[in-house]
Amino acid sequence: MPKDIQINEIRTDWTRAEAEFIYNLPFVDLLYRAQSVHRAHFDPNRVQMSRLLSVKTGGCPEDCSYCSQSARNGAQLSASKLMEVERVLSEARKAKAAGATRYCMGAAWRSPKDRDMPAIEAMVRGVRELGMETCMTLGMLDDTQVLRLKGAGLDYYNHNIDTSEAFYPEVITTRSFADRIDTLARVREAGIKVCSGGILGMGETAGDRIDMLLTLATLPEHPESVPINMLIPIAETPLAKAAPVDPIAFVRVIALGRILMPRSHMRLSAGRTEMSDEMQALCFFAGANSLFMGDTLLTAANPGEDRDMQLFQKLGLRPEAPRCSGAAGDA
Ligand code: SF4
Repeated sequence: MPKDIQINEIRTDWTRAEAEFIYNLPFVDLLYRAQSVHRAHFDPNRVQMSRLLSVKTGGCPEDCSYCSQSARNGAQLSASKLMEVERVLSEARKAKAAGATRYCMGAAWRSPKDRDMPAIEAMVRGVRELGMETCMTLGMLDDTQVLRLKGAGLDYYNHNIDTSEAFYPEVITTRSFADRIDTLARVREAGIKVCSGGILGMGETAGDRIDMLLTLATLPEHPESVPINMLIPIAETPLAKAAPVDPIAFVRVIALGRILMPRSHMRLSAGRTEMSDEMQALCFFAGANSLFMGDTLLTAANPGEDRDMQLFQKLGLRPEAPRCSGAAGDA
């Protein structure tokens, strides 16, 4: 590692050359560096556990090529209405009992409608009262909606950038990369924590993966959560025949993310059903320290709690303790 590359520091001025250099280090050196950074900022044997619920499924007007919920993609997924608040809270209670500390709620929208906001706010308040952190992913937000979510006590807002700015138009045409960055800025400005990451396996190059992480790592503040998804190709979507991601390349992305954003939770998200225990173990060693629990992720399969607990036992990992009191307004 050249002496002039400062790792282990919180930096938002990473250059492309630095990121590329780190990404291409010999694998063992890269993992050693990533693990060293990880240990400086986190207990390496703790994993933050989130649970994700789809509160409004399907019929989305956006054209994200990877998504079964897009009305344009031809995947045979029937659209649902916004779930009733009580049902969401009942699912959240079950998630808490199973060990989740953060409850993430996702709706397949371009952006929320004003008529839906009272129910969304009630979901946030109700989940916080259960003592869990709250996260919402609802699409693009305007200033008023961001303030309403903040007022309800929302802890995190998820809005993924998905991929590099250059590759983005190959994946989505109905909203721009700049739109996504604008929403992230609005959320950050309101004092809500940011969850933003991307998807590997959509046909992007290693350079696109590096650029995606670089975009996140050079925002004015790093996202607190960085979900890294491995594409699950879904029949009838434009990416149905996408080639699988090389596991070592996936681990390199986790390690680079850990080094560029030392205090962020790097989350293993979609695609874990296709990952071996060994691949997930390498991801944890590279600095992944968050995952989605439960057997469903929005509409996709996910390893169930039993399988995750077996893996945790084998690896000596433990769930991270909750970080919020649950009282509304202390985010
Ligand atoms: S990823 Fe989200 S915004 Fe894109 S089509 Fe799916 S539900 Fe809609």
